[in-house]
Amino acid sequence: MLSTQIRYQKGVGPKLASVLSKIGIETIEDLLYHFPREYEDRRNPVQVSKLEFGKDALIRVEVVKVSASRTKRNFSITKGTVKDASGSVRAIWFNQPYLIRILKAGTLLCMYGKLERDPYSGEVLFNPRDHEVINNSNSSDLIVPKYPLTEGITQRMMRRIVKVALNEKLNTVVDTMPKSIKEKFRLEDLQWSILSLHFPSDLKHVQPARRRLAFDELLRFQLGLMYNRKKLDESKGIRFKIESELVNMFRGRLPFKFTGAQKRALDEILADMGSSRVMNRLLQGDVGCGKTVVALYSMVVAVANGYQAAIMAPTEILANQHYKKIKSLVDDIGIEVALLTGSEKASRKGVFKKLKEGVPLILVGTHALMEEKVEFGRLGLVVIDEQHRFGVEQRLKLREKGRDIDLLVMTATPIPRTLALTLYGDLDRSIINEMPPGRTRTMTRFVREQEREKLYDFIGGQVKIGRQVYVVCPLVEESEKLDLKAAEDEVKSLGKVFPQFKIGLVHGRMKGEQKDRIMSDFLAGNVNILVSTTIIEVGIDVPNSTIMVIEHCERFGLSQLHQLRGRIGRGQEQSYCFLVGNPLSDTARARIEAMLRTTDGFSIAEADLKLRGPGEFFGTSQSGLPNFRVADIIRDEDIIRQAREAASLLLQNDFDISDLNIKLWGSKLE
Ligand code: ADP
Ligand code: MG
Repeated sequence: MLSTQIRYQKGVGPKLASVLSKIGIETIEDLLYHFPREYEDRRNPVQVSKLEFGKDALIRVEVVKVSASRTKRNFSITKGTVKDASGSVRAIWFNQPYLIRILKAGTLLCMYGKLERDPYSGEVLFNPRDHEVINNSNSSDLIVPKYPLTEGITQRMMRRIVKVALNEKLNTVVDTMPKSIKEKFRLEDLQWSILSLHFPSDLKHVQPARRRLAFDELLRFQLGLMYNRKKLDESKGIRFKIESELVNMFRGRLPFKFTGAQKRALDEILADMGSSRVMNRLLQGDVGCGKTVVALYSMVVAVANGYQAAIMAPTEILANQHYKKIKSLVDDIGIEVALLTGSEKASRKGVFKKLKEGVPLILVGTHALMEEKVEFGRLGLVVIDEQHRFGVEQRLKLREKGRDIDLLVMTATPIPRTLALTLYGDLDRSIINEMPPGRTRTMTRFVREQEREKLYDFIGGQVKIGRQVYVVCPLVEESEKLDLKAAEDEVKSLGKVFPQFKIGLVHGRMKGEQKDRIMSDFLAGNVNILVSTTIIEVGIDVPNSTIMVIEHCERFGLSQLHQLRGRIGRGQEQSYCFLVGNPLSDTARARIEAMLRTTDGFSIAEADLKLRGPGEFFGTSQSGLPNFRVADIIRDEDIIRQAREAASLLLQNDFDISDLNIKLWGSKLE
């Protein structure tokens, strides 16, 4: 069985099993799907007579003789002579005393290393970084896999246990891929692919083998997404009435007119809501483009129809802010707004009761919203803010809070195309690509430490004419305690520079109400300078705040810098973003250059993707994507498209998914 625990495999005891579990290998199947990250090509070894000093090379040689000795400091040294047809060379191994028992005259060896001068004797010797004895069982390994490892296991051990698993279990791997799909997309045989990705007999087999395995993963993923989507499309959603007295009143009281882009997005949302289809839509747009107000409009529509609407924000501060803003816009037209966060304990019971009874209202909350005890009597619409902080699974979980509810997810993160196809592959998309009128472009400057005084002069002048300032301190080694210390120090030193101003502090360790108080003080203009740790990253809206100072800007990622900068430039006045720091690395400099060059979210995201690579761009754990073992969501754009096509073919033909005998990711089927 492929699901057999790895410790029961021949040659793998409990000890090795626990090492393997550190890299996620628990079963034989995990081992078979633990693929090498590269290969060492041993087909064309360098001739010993052609070795060049200091240059890495692979040689295939026979041991002539070996002797062992010890240095004065008791280091073990093994020296020997090895030869091939072209000549011989002296070789040296440090600290591997046991080699004397293994390297007998006549032993065949593969060695990878270079010619170096022995620090003790001055002799020129071949110093192998890696070597392997060639015997009957591995003499044909001319292309040698290199696996991702962890402490306690070597490449050789890994290769050996993978071989055992392949020998004993590969023939039990069942290829459930329908023949039609295999033919249409020219997919290689599954067993062949697994074998060839571990031990390719030719390097040109690696790519097609990899493609087959990546295709499987991506197909599974796409099938999961599309299957759920299909079920949604088949179910009857709520047909909201779009126009009503209440909605008219809401529209009439908005202090501004929607931009063209907002109108288009809203029309698409309302078309979904008004139809009997279930809405599953992504609303995308840069920070400050006005997504929240559009979402609010749709929530008002839900409430006008007698339903409950909920909006989920990623942080408590943001939930609080949404709550206030929404309340201020709908209070006097008689719509009830409730708040539900982790720390908002006092009013909980009352809120739970109303929710359960189905009282029409707008509920604003954090992920506390998803808890089991939160029961909605009449949920009609859910809005998820800053979707990239939540995963696909959360989306499904929220759906279960009501029957065939409409779902709108919002994100300010510009999403590369491939991610849009995977992470958001089951969503329709609306884009707001226009800022509300009157916004000025934020000016961004890089400030060196020695220019700090000038910066403070400028800030002083701006605060005197009534502007407000954010000063952001970075995360220090992921420790909230040290964070707090850094932020408190900042408050102290700013207090010395600006004794006449009121300086506030908001940080991650504060309680909800504390944060709240300071934020409302800031919003009311009672605080001139707000020092914060990175928690203001998302969503805060204080239009009078026109200056942002980001300390140690080199410690922030590019997207994070962009998100932070989005907090200013929200009013009519010219805004300024100052990046203070000391970027030493090239990538840190490149990030700052990108910030100085553009304020466009999409260019920023592209630059970020280039600088960080896909893995970090959306930390997988946050993105809600499964951990693909082979597929690479950035590189494999073509395969993603084909897998999508295959998934939709299978679903169109009413193919019984259970025949595939695969675990559909993110689906209720499994
Ligand atoms: P987002 O959620 O996209 O970051 P918000 O909805 O929070 O943006 O809007 C940012 C700010 O712009 C808010 O203060 C909001 O009231 C204001 N705003 C939104 N739409 C418009 C508009 N069409 N005209 C003027 N101001 C607007
Ligand atoms: Mg927002």
